[in-house]
Amino acid sequence: MRISDITNYLETLAPLSFQESYDNAGLILGDASNQASGVLITLDVTEAVVEEAIALNVNLIIAHHPIVFSGLKKITGKNYVERTLIKAIKNDVAIYAAHTNLDSVLQHGVNTMICQKLGLKNTTILDPVVGKLLKLVVFVPENYADKVRNVLFKAGAGTIGAYDSCSFNSAGTGTFKAGETANPFVGEKEKLHREPEVRIEVVLPEHLKTKVIDAMIQSHPYEEVAYDIYRLENAWSQVGSGMIGELETAEEEANFLHRVKHSLNTNCIRHTELRQKPVKKVAVCGGAGSFLLKHAIKAQADVFISGDFKYHQFFDADGKILIADVGHFESEQFTKELFYELLMRKFSNFAIHFTKVNTNPIKYL
Ligand SMILES: [Zn+2]
Repeated sequence: MRISDITNYLETLAPLSFQESYDNAGLILGDASNQASGVLITLDVTEAVVEEAIALNVNLIIAHHPIVFSGLKKITGKNYVERTLIKAIKNDVAIYAAHTNLDSVLQHGVNTMICQKLGLKNTTILDPVVGKLLKLVVFVPENYADKVRNVLFKAGAGTIGAYDSCSFNSAGTGTFKAGETANPFVGEKEKLHREPEVRIEVVLPEHLKTKVIDAMIQSHPYEEVAYDIYRLENAWSQVGSGMIGELETAEEEANFLHRVKHSLNTNCIRHTELRQKPVKKVAVCGGAGSFLLKHAIKAQADVFISGDFKYHQFFDADGKILIADVGHFESEQFTKELFYELLMRKFSNFAIHFTKVNTNPIKYL
């Protein structure tokens, strides 16, 4: 199996186009066409993690945080990033990261794991992404409508929330006049032709555009396929930042925080003043999530669980919500389990290891 077989699979689950603009997810180091000897899963890549991969005879590290965020002009080993890269290059170890693209998927994302650990129900994306959905309209002769529609669905179009095979179909008449050089499927050259057609409308994610259009053209009988693509302003309920859900039964605040501390295996929770209100609605965001505080308040969450809140940002709770900062590493530690679960679905006979290195740079006294 090649490294690209693994990374391509991960990118069907967490497409790179889902990552934030500042991010650098994807294959960061290495040749994707090399045979993979095994995978080492980690949250961060450090020299110690590369050494562990070498000792395990594993040539692919899959991490949550990209080791490189911005351009490197020199690689001389003057900091841990450069030393880690040099060690990996010398030993032919590839490095891959699935970061904000993995954060943002509803069904198998980083926040999904946190929601599961806390036992949240009715979970949805806290801040759904906007502008990543397209509408495709295609005109198909009546007898081919079923075939083309099914091909569109199979290629990934027509999914809305928990529903697939969604389309709208309206019958009408198409007209065309084939030119001298044309090779028309129906009608005669240089004669106006009228054909009963179906206008099929489906939504599709932007990252599947090429795949869907190629499949549509392959299955369509016409030499020139008439179709339109529109960019939608709809929010996409399946992709975005943070998640929100509900506890089965409301819990007293202090008890809930103790349970969070235990469930998320954290040494310390920094939180705002208790509001003397039971907790029912819970918003979460793994990693640095303070940018979502206003969304959590707007969604009327009782608690917002995240990491990396700064002193002044705690004031922004303003009695409207309980902020619980569980730590960046702690909130994302289950990402390793998530990688393992996703990889095992497809590569169950492959060597997949968890790092034994504690890469959290923050220690508690
Ligand atoms: Zn993070």
